[in-house]
Amino acid sequence: MESPTVPPLGFVPMPTAPYRQHRKAAKLLDQPGPPRPADPAPSGGAGDGQPGDVPLPYAFGARVLMWKQDPSVSEIGTRKAFLPGVVLAGPRDARIEIKDPGIPMVEPNAFGDFVTMPDTPQFDAVHTFAVVRQTLTMYQRALSSAGTEMPLPWQWNSSVDTSPLQIHPYGLPNVMNAFYSRSQCCLKFGDFAQADGSAGAAPDQSVRIYTCRSFDIVSHETGHAVLDGIKPQWLNADNPPQTGGLHESFGDLTAIFLALSQLDQCDAVVAQTKARLHDKTFLADIAEQFGLALGNTNGLRNADNDLTLSQAATEVHAISQVFTGAVYDILADVFAFERQPAFEDCASVLHRSAAWLRGLLLRALIAAPESAATYADVANEMLRICREDGKPAAYTAFIRDRFVQREVLAVPAELAASLAGQPHPPGLRLAACVSDAPGARQDRRACCGTMNLSEYYDAERVLEAETQALARWCAAHGRSGPAGAGQPTTGAMLAGVAVSTTAATSDGAAVTTEIAALAVLDPAPTQPAPTGGMPPGALPAGVLADI
Ligand SMILES: [Zn+2]
Repeated sequence: MESPTVPPLGFVPMPTAPYRQHRKAAKLLDQPGPPRPADPAPSGGAGDGQPGDVPLPYAFGARVLMWKQDPSVSEIGTRKAFLPGVVLAGPRDARIEIKDPGIPMVEPNAFGDFVTMPDTPQFDAVHTFAVVRQTLTMYQRALSSAGTEMPLPWQWNSSVDTSPLQIHPYGLPNVMNAFYSRSQCCLKFGDFAQADGSAGAAPDQSVRIYTCRSFDIVSHETGHAVLDGIKPQWLNADNPPQTGGLHESFGDLTAIFLALSQLDQCDAVVAQTKARLHDKTFLADIAEQFGLALGNTNGLRNADNDLTLSQAATEVHAISQVFTGAVYDILADVFAFERQPAFEDCASVLHRSAAWLRGLLLRALIAAPESAATYADVANEMLRICREDGKPAAYTAFIRDRFVQREVLAVPAELAASLAGQPHPPGLRLAACVSDAPGARQDRRACCGTMNLSEYYDAERVLEAETQALARWCAAHGRSGPAGAGQPTTGAMLAGVAVSTTAATSDGAAVTTEIAALAVLDPAPTQPAPTGGMPPGALPAGVLADI
């Protein structure tokens, strides 16, 4: 029986047994030779001993051991991955930092690698770091390879604040939630006891679900962080429902694209589906383990769906599935178009198709309006950029037709006959088919924890209004402060306050936080509302605090 703290031998990169034997024998016979002459200094001044001339290790970059997919997808298991940049103890690098008081700092081994035993806090820290790092790298590469290189800053980054995104793998103990918080500059992940399948049964405390172990959940939340860095106004709840749908969908698509950025996963998908992406695969099911823990059979949401915009109404989670489903269909179309088994391996074609499509999506999102972006905005940008990329003309037909099918774009009746089955004409922007109703409010109940964070609702302002009303009531009823501050105002009246909150329970039960309308009838002037907020009374009736 191996010690639980030492990974099995196979996990650690080691020289082969014959090589070790050869080295042992050689050492017995060899005398130490003269030291090798120092390498001549490369051009550019390096190696001249000047201050700031810090040599990098011979082969920097770290190997990590991580889950390939959710731990429940046993067919996939763990994988060794190589992170090509500098990774220091923590792990941390310039953009991402594990910061969790519940997890001791993970030190690299003698090879500079982070290879630890699964089901330990150290493994969870390394896995979570690796998924966030791979997600950021994936999108940076997508832009670099399209000639539009940018570092993809976090939302708070500026010339004077380059602080990294902090990761708290155990940040929400006994909470069925995970989120990206802009105000805390972090991702936080919850863990909870797995619910027993039977109704009313107590959760099994011995089986805990850690959301940080889910490849999909970590990449989904990182997707929110990446998009918030590009479009800081999109996450606020006062945007129309489709803008919220874009955020949530980008998270899900990030999980799918990250899986497809790894050749072995492409290979597994091709083998599992016989290269037909509409056959059931783990790829289209987001967050398998988490979904199963909640009693869903398919993970949290299904990317391979047929929802249309008119079916989704204002429910952001359903709306997001419309966009995710359309992009998934486009991926399946492009893959089927490109596939030539006689010439090229299917997994390699899938890897390449997904790499182009994720870059197309990211560039279309960057080109979309800074606020209140609609699906039609992004779809039209995808059509434009696809043409500029010089891709086969058939690609534009795939994109247009899938968005028309989802009621995102509308083809004018007079063009319907000429466009049918034809590539999309250059420069033709299509109008939206189904739009959000004017003034429609986002219903984020079924969305992930990020979308339900109070900071994006500007809920602080609601509390501020309540405390101001309290202060005025006190002043009007002779409860002036010690210095006599706050003269009574007239007519201040708190008409109704109803706030009910329920904290998460250790048994992992679904938790609901309700913020009812706060009505303050007061002729006295109040603080001006901060921009980008939601007017009082417009908050959703219920906020479900789960993924
Ligand atoms: Zn989300």
